[in-house]
Amino acid sequence: MNATPGSVALLDTLRAAVGPAHVLTPADGADLTAWEQDWRRRWRGRAAAVVRPGSTAEVAAVVRACAAHGTAIVPQGGNTGLVGGGVPDASGTQVLLGLQRLNRVRGLDAANLTLTAEAGCVLQALQHAAAAQGLLLPLSLAAEGSCTIGGNLATNAGGTQVLRWGNARELCLGLEVVTAAGEVWDGLSGLRKDNTGYDLRDLFIGSEGTLGVITAATLKLAPQPAAVTTALAACGSLDDCVALLNLARARLGAGLTGFEVMGRFALDLVAQHFPALPRPLPGAPWTVLLEQSDVEGEAPARERFERLLEAAIGQGSVADAVVAESLAQSRALWHLRESIPLAQVEEGLNVKHDISLPVSAIPRFCARTDALLRQRWPGVRLVNFGHLGDGNLHYNVQAPPGDDGPRFLAEHEHAVNQVVFDSVAQEGGSFSAEHGIGALKRDELAARKHPVALGLMRAIKTALDPQGLMNPGRVL
Ligand code: FAD
Ligand code: ZN
Repeated sequence: MNATPGSVALLDTLRAAVGPAHVLTPADGADLTAWEQDWRRRWRGRAAAVVRPGSTAEVAAVVRACAAHGTAIVPQGGNTGLVGGGVPDASGTQVLLGLQRLNRVRGLDAANLTLTAEAGCVLQALQHAAAAQGLLLPLSLAAEGSCTIGGNLATNAGGTQVLRWGNARELCLGLEVVTAAGEVWDGLSGLRKDNTGYDLRDLFIGSEGTLGVITAATLKLAPQPAAVTTALAACGSLDDCVALLNLARARLGAGLTGFEVMGRFALDLVAQHFPALPRPLPGAPWTVLLEQSDVEGEAPARERFERLLEAAIGQGSVADAVVAESLAQSRALWHLRESIPLAQVEEGLNVKHDISLPVSAIPRFCARTDALLRQRWPGVRLVNFGHLGDGNLHYNVQAPPGDDGPRFLAEHEHAVNQVVFDSVAQEGGSFSAEHGIGALKRDELAARKHPVALGLMRAIKTALDPQGLMNPGRVL
């Protein structure tokens, strides 16, 4: 935004709406890097201003003011998104709407098993709020210490508990939204059943800030399990991992709450960059992290786990296994899994893929795609890990050793994507499982989504945001 009379008037209106302390501009000498740069440091934009409202009414006032001036808005929660959707573009004309000050828990209804909270609440804070009442908010991801519930819903985040509880969408019963016109839709409700017309809630979930601003949500809770046990299993192949998954499903039923797979190279990167972390079962081609949540208690849960792993060893799908003996050991195993994204950051940029496949197709997909990539880019390294129980892999392609990561990305990202996404399509999979579209996969969406679906999406966008001011250039 240049210092035109219009933009000066807009800044004055924004200051009046949220208080001068909560409007930050480059002209005032404010350092906006934390808002303008994404978590992976892959995108760096420039905002006209960062505006930080403290209430839904203030969000509505900001949206109305921007609409009146034809100024685009980029909503942002914890800025942990991985597809370049929550940072401004390079124009210097967009208003970055920082939602972290909307951080109140509005209520917890223990008998109805629901929690209502504002969009800027950090996910971990909400997990703690539920736990304080002996309840569980079953949404969990490695970014939970900084991502916000608004961002989780705007991206329909997945994470490590989807296998049992579904993704963010399935945990959301109601929403409060500020529309592109600056109106407030109060759709907060703790109802499990409500068939009263089109589902507006599900339209805003996963819309990545392109249809409106989520300001609060009512979420489903569950009773805390009596015991949570964790195990690590070494498998020789992805076929073995799938066999273990099916055995675990059969033996543990709804008690199976986590099933994560980690390829050897992904764990090698963790060992290289975080050498202090323990590495049980070193050298396994594939390591599976299993989690069981039990209503009975520690001892029966452990026993069931041990019997499962013995059966898997007998069946030949598991070579070796360890069961965590304590909460601390269990945390250490999860820490290993959660350190993979961080180890990748240390290693340098890679070509990230967040793909979804039928579980049954995963071994075939990996064998074919690994070979195609290695043939075309000899020495290329595959950081393959993810939520195998949901058929969701983070199938990332790292430059050959010694190659410059950013250069490899600049030169080959498009071609690598075509190989991987064509292979995904061949198996009836999706090129975006849980991270969303943002700026990163917008062209892919235009190229690969069914034309009728794209037409309907564009019609919805035009109906809800006729001026095209809500996070423009993202998704569509
Ligand atoms: P932001 O990054 O701030 O924003 C994300 C998008 O949502 C942007 O398009 C933004 O405009 C929009 N947005 C944000 N808040 C609102 C709002 N209130 N209203 C409307 N639009 C809004 N994702 C998974 O699904 N599963 C994982 O396991 C997972 N693991 C991760 C691990 C790490 C270490 C990191 C860094 C990220 C991971 N992610 C994962 C990415 C995930 O998308 C985010 O962590 C999270 O869901 C985004 O929340 P946020 O508050 O940081 O949103
Ligand atoms: Zn993930």
